[in-house]
Amino acid sequence: MAEAKSATEFDVMNEVQKYITKEESLALIRHAQSYASKQHEGQKRKSGEPYMVHLTNVAYILATLRAGPTTIAAGYLHDSIEDTNVSKKELAKEFNEEIAELVESVTKIGALPYKGKNDPEYQAANHRKIFIAMAKDIRVILIKLSDRLHNMRTLEYKSEEGQKRISAETLDVYAPIAHCLGMSSIKNELEDLSFYYLNREEYYHIAHLVETKKTERDASVQQMITDITTMLQEQGIEFRIFGRSKHLYSIYHKMVDRHKRFDEILDLLAIRIVTKTELNCYEILGYIHAKYKPVPGRLKDYIAVPKTNMYQSLHTTIIGEEGKIFEVQIRTEDMDAIAERGVAAHWRYKEGKAYDARQEQKEIEDKLSWFKDFATFTDEANDQTDLAYMSALQKDVFQANVYVMTPKGRVIDLPNGATPIDFAYRIHTEVGHRAVGAIVNDAMVPLNTELHTGDVVKIKTQNGTGPNEDWLKFVKSSQAKSKIKAYLSKMEQEEKEKVSKDGERILSNELKKRGFAPEEYMDRKKIEAVVSQFSANNYVDLMYGIAMKAISPSSVAEKLTNVKFGTNDKELVEKLLSRDHKRKRISNKSGVVVPGIESMKLDIAQCCLPVYGDEIVGYVTKSDGVKVHQKDCANVNQSHARLISCEWEAHDAEWLYESELIIVAHDRNFLLTDIVTVISQCKAPMLNVGAKVNQETLLATIHLRLQVHDVTQLNSVIANLRKVDSVVSVDRRLQ
Ligand code: MN
Repeated sequence: MAEAKSATEFDVMNEVQKYITKEESLALIRHAQSYASKQHEGQKRKSGEPYMVHLTNVAYILATLRAGPTTIAAGYLHDSIEDTNVSKKELAKEFNEEIAELVESVTKIGALPYKGKNDPEYQAANHRKIFIAMAKDIRVILIKLSDRLHNMRTLEYKSEEGQKRISAETLDVYAPIAHCLGMSSIKNELEDLSFYYLNREEYYHIAHLVETKKTERDASVQQMITDITTMLQEQGIEFRIFGRSKHLYSIYHKMVDRHKRFDEILDLLAIRIVTKTELNCYEILGYIHAKYKPVPGRLKDYIAVPKTNMYQSLHTTIIGEEGKIFEVQIRTEDMDAIAERGVAAHWRYKEGKAYDARQEQKEIEDKLSWFKDFATFTDEANDQTDLAYMSALQKDVFQANVYVMTPKGRVIDLPNGATPIDFAYRIHTEVGHRAVGAIVNDAMVPLNTELHTGDVVKIKTQNGTGPNEDWLKFVKSSQAKSKIKAYLSKMEQEEKEKVSKDGERILSNELKKRGFAPEEYMDRKKIEAVVSQFSANNYVDLMYGIAMKAISPSSVAEKLTNVKFGTNDKELVEKLLSRDHKRKRISNKSGVVVPGIESMKLDIAQCCLPVYGDEIVGYVTKSDGVKVHQKDCANVNQSHARLISCEWEAHDAEWLYESELIIVAHDRNFLLTDIVTVISQCKAPMLNVGAKVNQETLLATIHLRLQVHDVTQLNSVIANLRKVDSVVSVDRRLQ
């Protein structure tokens, strides 16, 4: 392993003074240094070195990244809350709120130990915290990366188990973050260190392969450098040129990933040319291509189309002497700095320019196209599980590898296989929702067309349209997926809310019907209290269920009023019966006369109970006068000599006649109540009600004794009863 030199206090200040000169800034850094040294006094690292060595190195790495004085001070203090007795409050008092805030955020990231792939839930929760902290303040992740880098450099003192665990986490989480932020030198070092601890055998194997070819390679590279140098000097272009070696992990990764043998990895012979201007880059490319044969399809213009981590450069692959293949990178000094240090280079500390964390965060979002998505993604993803969040992030941010462009040239990164719909949601949620067509490279294409790197995509939108469920079948980014789902479920919810108003009306009527005041029971809180007893999640759900006839309004009314009802429930029926206490009696016992005969004993036959308006006939009994039957009563022998015609007495509107109905219905809650309610609505006083349920068929037979003014009213009662839910038949008792 190549040893990184451990930095001293002197190194830190030396590095810092290359770009920070203000006395108050330097004083802040010195103060943080001496404060940390005091706080951690006596603490030792596993290596036996004083703890301060770690803090000094973290501060040093931050200085090489050109971090500001606040960040470097926070770097010195990053372990003080966790490892000493200092509180956030004390830090805020000793330094300032900003530093205290940074240290706290870094501490929080470290609070959950990484348990490796065996515990994905735990791991996801931990990683999510890192990303949330990073989305809020990029400086937190700079400190954390520097901390991790030094820990990785000194990992040899840990137990083997610890080495593997920390290396796996570094490879899974920190290296990808460094990559996304364009910090490739840190990323490469983290990857190689992790590789070394995780797979030492492969590490040495590749190191050995690289080493054996080194002399030969170095000679080839040196020859090429000389040739190019001569050529460019003749053109009078300012440049520097050097050979570069690929880091071991990337060689390993390519061998494993692309199933290539070591000697097939093309860019092993790599040369970089750094020049002054963008124009120089293209000029140099032109000269090189004029002299050496380029490998077709290998020219990449990342200057015109930067990578999403801001990386800019020209890449070409050329064939040199003896058929040797070289990968050449051409870029400006600025581009080179960004290629190495990414975000840190772009936002390097500039003295005299007031620092504003929020402003910087905003600028980063503007510049790093994925970062804005990432920040909103992290914001909106609050209700996702940690695992879902992590896998979405891995897919949408870390594994993005199709780069397409807007017509204005903005680069959008999308997962492999992404479609114009994915693109549309990246542009803006509303563009996604309103997308109706896509134009890719000037041709109209279906919305499920797979996009490729370099495609120029334009989305046609139309107001008043919305995503459809089929989109979910082909979109690739989890961002688009979750936006579509959110939209659809919002639509569903709105529809539900509309329909639920019907449920409210039904329930309110149900209560009214039962004699309960709706205004007392139609109370959201009261109803929410009973929601869980039905297959509903909330108030709207319940009302929707009622409206859709999935939930019985009578059962809800039952729970709300706390009065249980069924055919076997007497209590409420009694209550309803007692309401009809004013019963008008008919004048004489029967209300029937036999024309021409007075003072004859006339009784209504109890078998068929005729009422006013029915066709009737008298039957002369042997000892008990005349019984009045309905004309077609089965108990009357129609041809019998004892029949005598009779008529209804002159009718008084107040008079009432008794009748009995037999109702057959499927038994259910509130059946009897519903029946009784109909009777009272028809203003027919009830005398008695009795019900029996056949336990096999669950059919209820209800005998209902009531009073009516005439047969018309009785028929209307029957008609209304037949409309009651679950009622099978309603008939007058005929015998
Ligand atoms: Mn640390």
